[in-house]
Amino acid sequence: MEKLYVKTKYDIKVTKVSESRINQVNFDDLPFGRTFTDHMFIVDFKDGKWQNAQIKPFGNLTLHPASNVLHYGQAIFEGMKAFKQVDGTPILFRVDEHINRLNASARRLCMAEVPAELFREAIERLVDMDREWIPTFEGSSLYIRPYIIGVDGYLGVKASETFQFIIFLCPVGPYYPKPVSLVTAQKYVRAVVGGVGEAKAAGNYAASLLPMRLANEAGYDQVMWMDAHEFKYIQEVGTMNLFFVIGDKVVTPNTDGAILKGITRKSFIDILKNKGIEVEERKISIDEVIEAHNNGELKEIFGSGTAAVVSHVADLTHKDVKMVLPPVEDRKIGNMLKKEINDIRTGVIADPFGWVEKL
Ligand SMILES: *Cc1c(COP(=O)(O)O)cnc(C)c1O
Repeated sequence: MEKLYVKTKYDIKVTKVSESRINQVNFDDLPFGRTFTDHMFIVDFKDGKWQNAQIKPFGNLTLHPASNVLHYGQAIFEGMKAFKQVDGTPILFRVDEHINRLNASARRLCMAEVPAELFREAIERLVDMDREWIPTFEGSSLYIRPYIIGVDGYLGVKASETFQFIIFLCPVGPYYPKPVSLVTAQKYVRAVVGGVGEAKAAGNYAASLLPMRLANEAGYDQVMWMDAHEFKYIQEVGTMNLFFVIGDKVVTPNTDGAILKGITRKSFIDILKNKGIEVEERKISIDEVIEAHNNGELKEIFGSGTAAVVSHVADLTHKDVKMVLPPVEDRKIGNMLKKEINDIRTGVIADPFGWVEKL
């Protein structure tokens, strides 16, 4: 089972931990994002090229106090997962999609792009070194967080010329998200066409914290983001894209430049089409959703994303209208998509799309 990474010209220097921390970890209790594996990857961009690539023991970074990332926010990230298949083979999912999106984010924020071969070798070697950390029980995985930061120690507002590309790994347990209670945004916006909503840029998430806190205080779990001009068209929710099942059709907002192009979203659209289920990518207004609900046609709303895969919506409030959705057991589409994508990843069913990459 030793198909491994292809060595590239980047010549990654490897320093292993003297003793693994894996025995201190309770794999039956893995809250998201709090447990880190033994090693991390880090490479510098300097003098116009990526250099000094290394895998080393997980630990703190050392940054110049004037680093761009700390003041002007040149920071972008990805979120992806490694899984163990039922026969024990570790796999990665849609690596090229993540490379392309990271580099699209890099271009939008004037940051150095990472060559695909470097990204691949780094992830494959790191995940291979820490492969014992990939949990095996159902629904669990190894979450992979690649990110790039601008590290010039210069206080002027300008694009950094030096960067660090870093990857670390977190084993995560099965995530059974409770159906969420949503409220439409009425005052704050997440993103506007022409802004940075399409980039996985750190600042987007800082900006969402206050509206989210206010929604939580009002008794909701998450904010449904609306378009910035009329607060009429639906964008997405938290760190997830949105799907609506109306009658026999599945509808998801089209990625108009303000919506993050989710890879789970894209995968779900392909699975639906492959099964002959009608799926529309288009503008969807809150009025249309209310009308569908009033007509008894609104069967499901769910979010899609790497972390939760599918997150069912229990209810949605828009101004003084509260729409309560049917019980989760009756949600055919969301439950089918979750099972289908998980079965493809774990090798329970064949992967007709070429998404799964065995390590
Ligand atoms: C990451 C993210 C998503 C989901 O993308 P996936 O590739 O499916 O994980 C959706 N919306 C936002 C704002 C995100 O940051």
